[in-house]
Order: sequence, then structure tokens, then C-alpha cells
Amino acid sequence: MKMSIALMLFVALTTSCTTAPDTIPTHTTMTKSDSLKNDSTQSDKITKTDQEWKAQLTPDQYHILREKGTERAYTGAYWDNHATGIYKCAACSTVLFSSDQKFDSGCGWPSFSLPWDSTVVDYHVDNSYGMKRTEVTCKKCGGHLGHVFDDGPPPTNLRYCINSGSMIFEEKRK
Ligand SMILES: [Zn+2]
Repeated sequence: MKMSIALMLFVALTTSCTTAPDTIPTHTTMTKSDSLKNDSTQSDKITKTDQEWKAQLTPDQYHILREKGTERAYTGAYWDNHATGIYKCAACSTVLFSSDQKFDSGCGWPSFSLPWDSTVVDYHVDNSYGMKRTEVTCKKCGGHLGHVFDDGPPPTNLRYCINSGSMIFEEKRK
């Protein structure tokens, strides 16, 4: 009798484990198809020497991504891009932003209300030029992308102000 109670307890415990709700957080506002997922794990960081980055990137890309440069407003390739697709890091091809989150901010740089997901970017306090800003970098390669401000549209009220030159746009195939 004691054995069967123990067995029932065991069954009850294992059953409760297998029926536990899936608590893995998922991003519900993104519409990702399988073909658009990042195919590499987010934890493998890329480190290259300045010479290696210089050889890989164009001078404009290198200046923005590796020297924290800023392209002049209204001069980049994507500030007025309304096509549907994804924006990848120009240095490491990580998917950073989607056209779903892009909006017309009028500031002259591509503006997004959210990144692709919370794992693709890092944030840093930036007090350069006498301003208090939050720098946004690519988590995988450390490349400078732009800054995030809190004057975006609801519901996030965020404006990720990103240099076109730090990204490569890939139009969604219809
Ligand atoms: Zn990157």
C-alpha cells in the first residue's frame, strides 16, 4: 500500500511538471516567419581587429559602426525607405529591425519603435557632445548603430534613431 501511494505521488509530480505552462518569454508583437529568423545563436560575439573591420566594411560603414560616427540627416539610404523587409547589421548580418516597427519620425534617420527582439541590441550611457543619450549597439559585433530616445509614438514611446549606414536592408520576398 505504501508503495502505491509513493507511485501515485510520483505520477502526480511528474504529470504536474509536464503540464506546467510554457513560461519561455516570446515576443508577441513581432511577425516573424521562419525564413527571417536569425540563424546563429545570440551568444557568439564577434571580435575582429580594426584592420579586419576596415577590410570588410566600406569607409562609411566603418566610420559609423566602429568609430561611432553619425551620417548626416536625410542622407542615408533608408530614412525614407517604406519597403517591407528586415534591417540587418552591416557588419555581422544579425537581424536588428523590421519594417513593421519603422515609422516616419521626420528626423532624417531610420526610426524604429522597437528592435527585432530584446536580445539583438545593447545599451550604453553616452554623455558625449554635452548630451545625455543612450547609445544602441549590435550585441553580436559591438557595432555602433545609433541612439534610442523616449519621444517615439505609443505604445513603446521609443524612437530608435539608427544610421542607415550601419544596416543592410533586405526586402521581403512576396
Ligand atoms: Zn553586428
